[in-house]
Amino acid sequence: MKPIVLFGSPGSGKGTQAKMLTDCLGVPHFSTGDMLRDRIRHGNQISPMVAAKMHSGALVSDELVNQLVMEQITGPEASRGFVLDGYPRTLAQAEHLCKWLDGSGLREVVIHLAVDYNVIIARLTGRRMCPRCGTLYNVASRPPRVDEQCDLDGQKLVIREDDSEEVIRERLAAYDRQTRPVLDYYRKAGRRVVQVDANYDPPGVIFQRIRGAVEADDCSKNGG
Ligand code: AMP
Repeated sequence: MKPIVLFGSPGSGKGTQAKMLTDCLGVPHFSTGDMLRDRIRHGNQISPMVAAKMHSGALVSDELVNQLVMEQITGPEASRGFVLDGYPRTLAQAEHLCKWLDGSGLREVVIHLAVDYNVIIARLTGRRMCPRCGTLYNVASRPPRVDEQCDLDGQKLVIREDDSEEVIRERLAAYDRQTRPVLDYYRKAGRRVVQVDANYDPPGVIFQRIRGAVEADDCSKNGG
């Protein structure tokens, strides 16, 4: 099973699709945003400056996220493949990852979840999260069964600190400035990038598109 890189702007549905992929394929899901939030929650080896950067919508250092990702993808859990969500987000991160994959004889498939700007704004401003288990909801497209409560553990849902409108604008600017160029890097390097329309269809339909792309890629590599 090859590594899958889920690529897209904030609000493109990477987290939702990553969870569906890992359930279906039985491989782990590594989200750098979750790793960072988890460490901040547990006061774990993360400086207050990192938390402040995240809350402002800016990216944290390449060095830190490269290290967090390497700890995961070199572990035994990742030996049968993995899904990366929110990484790489800069050229330096992409180069770091590609170098490691090439050295390990692995070739990723990059899935680009393409979503229009207005759709993203609507999604992010309606987003709610369970502070205990991390499940994501959306007041418009995926409301919880009971208003403002997590379906799984009944916790009161929260708005992520970086989902305020001002911070959303900064996150999208960071995406345009630092992350979008990563797609060109992959394309120019002749690596496989599959664009998936992730605008309006329900997550299950978008998931089938991704799955089709991943399977087609596996078949072409195996001569099928
Ligand atoms: P996410 O949950 O993926 O939207 O990430 C939330 C925040 O964590 C981002 O706005 C960044 O501050 C930080 N972050 C997550 N992944 C990365 C990354 N690959 N590089 C730099 N910062 C990151």
